[in-house]
Amino acid sequence: MNKKSVKIKKGKVFVLSGPSGAGKTTLHKWLLKNKKIAKMLVKTVSATTRAPRKGEKDGRDYLFFSKKEFFHRREIGYFLEWKKVFDNYYGTPKKLLEDFLKKGKNVLLCIDVKGAKVVMKQKKEAVSIFVKTKNMSVLRKRLEDRGSETIVDFQKRVQTAQKEMKEVKHYQHVVINDVLSVAVKKIETIILEELKKKQEE
Ligand code: ADP
Ligand code: 5GP
Repeated sequence: MNKKSVKIKKGKVFVLSGPSGAGKTTLHKWLLKNKKIAKMLVKTVSATTRAPRKGEKDGRDYLFFSKKEFFHRREIGYFLEWKKVFDNYYGTPKKLLEDFLKKGKNVLLCIDVKGAKVVMKQKKEAVSIFVKTKNMSVLRKRLEDRGSETIVDFQKRVQTAQKEMKEVKHYQHVVINDVLSVAVKKIETIILEELKKKQEE
């Protein structure tokens, strides 16, 4: 019997990055509430050594590893990229991402600016989106209001954000996260347009 083989188009990688407090977490959660987007895009689950926050679930929000486990996995090449972000380690599991892509799934990575640089080097075809606030005082205010850091951590994040802003030039798309619904819509439009291009390729 002649088996017909249907070639699956490889998925596309979307990298959503930007300084801490710019709104990456908020935006991706809203983005995936849109059923049309959720059907076309999966978010990879990163690994981290930080403790789970209230309401976070292992395997859904992050893979919560001890430092020992994280370092072991790093040794055996488990991560596509890994970075120390402030005081904790974070990494993108390579196989998880590659399996999604092979199955034709488009994948969203929501990662820090240094990690995004590595992914953009390794995955030249990745679509990069930089999220920022209107200005630094809005970023400071958002970090303050989020209240998840100590004063020392807060200052570190603000200083790092100033450096990270210089990386914006390496990204294909820039989204200013001012009015949340407008920013979500803008990212939706970018994703839909990129996926349309993919279908036409
Ligand atoms: P990141 O994941 O980039 O560190 P978050 O998504 O945690 O940033 O956002 C930082 C803080 O700003 C959070 O308290 C979040 O609720 C708030 N926030 C995010 N986007 C907006 C927005 N458009 N308007 C007002 N507050 C926002
Ligand atoms: P949080 O602890 O607030 O969830 O995340 C802190 C920072 O780590 C955020 O900027 C987030 O985007 C980033 N991050 C989350 N997962 C990864 C990852 O797999 N790799 C890298 N490089 N950064 C990540």
